[in-house]
Amino acid sequence: MKAAVLEGIDQIALREVPTPECTPDTILVRVNACAVCGTDVKALRHGHQMIKPPIILGHELAGTVVEVGAEIHGHYDSERVTVASAVPCGRCYYCQRGQTTVCENILDIGSTWSGGFADYLLVPPAAVRNACVNKIPDGVSAAAVALTEPLACCLNAQEMLGVGVGDTVLIIGSGPIGCLNAMLARALGAAAVIVANRSAPRLKMAEVVGADLYVNTSEDDLKQCVLDSTDGRGADVVIVACASSEAQQESVELAAPRGRINFFGGLPRGSSAIAFDSNRLHYQEMTLVGNHGSTPYQNYKALHLIASGQVDTEKVITHRFKLDEIEKAVATAASKEGLKVLVEPD
Ligand SMILES: [Zn+2]
Ligand SMILES: [Zn+2]
Repeated sequence: MKAAVLEGIDQIALREVPTPECTPDTILVRVNACAVCGTDVKALRHGHQMIKPPIILGHELAGTVVEVGAEIHGHYDSERVTVASAVPCGRCYYCQRGQTTVCENILDIGSTWSGGFADYLLVPPAAVRNACVNKIPDGVSAAAVALTEPLACCLNAQEMLGVGVGDTVLIIGSGPIGCLNAMLARALGAAAVIVANRSAPRLKMAEVVGADLYVNTSEDDLKQCVLDSTDGRGADVVIVACASSEAQQESVELAAPRGRINFFGGLPRGSSAIAFDSNRLHYQEMTLVGNHGSTPYQNYKALHLIASGQVDTEKVITHRFKLDEIEKAVATAASKEGLKVLVEPD
């Protein structure tokens, strides 16, 4: 089969590799679509502590089952599926408490297990066992479903934040994750969604998600804009969907009393120590959380938010490439000239 193999920093190439063999406890899936994630770009450009080349990248995917292991019973034959890429072990302390995003033995498809930038994906045994394989309802495109995993990560954040009816949600960063968070907040009942970014073209692209207010932070004072639109209170929820220590620091000033803040974007290693006025948290009874992944159940729910039309993930897909254009696909994602970049095998 053809696969895009990460071979080192700035080295990704289309290779002919053996098609994985379906063992008794695995499922073989023909990949129909796989989106490029910021993690893929990071791994290619700078390396990633979890990703050891050579490896096939790609973890935001949809496909069709072509072979089912002999020991697997159920209903997988010829089904269209999406697979939660953060595969929990199901046995550790955290898995037993349902907190699988911090599983001690997590297996990551596209990082520690061959991913979806290939003709076929072998679904690992733990993914089959631990409910990571979700059937795609009829009539939903593979492209839309490929964004199940990043939407599930947004759901992980917004469930932890308790985003709900009547909230004013401020999202700093209007890349794909900022856009998905904006649509999700709306689906969960947010009364107002504010999207901020310091790049005018990037902010312009985010108009597809229909936020109530867009703030260009290189021109306007974000704090003033947020206060003006919330009767001076601040945002009930602030999601920092960019890798910016300044934005993290500022978020504490932008939240209302009882506000909930999420650091969605991780900071580069070595520069993640930040300072802010902790008395704001103390006296205003704020909550500050971080997130970086999603549970299998959140992937299930994200898929159904997409299938039901509550979150139209196709709105954020701006580029499509064939698998043999993988270098162009990743370069386009890295350039930030669009939002989500999709890779489709021939
Ligand atoms: Zn991702
Ligand atoms: Zn575990």
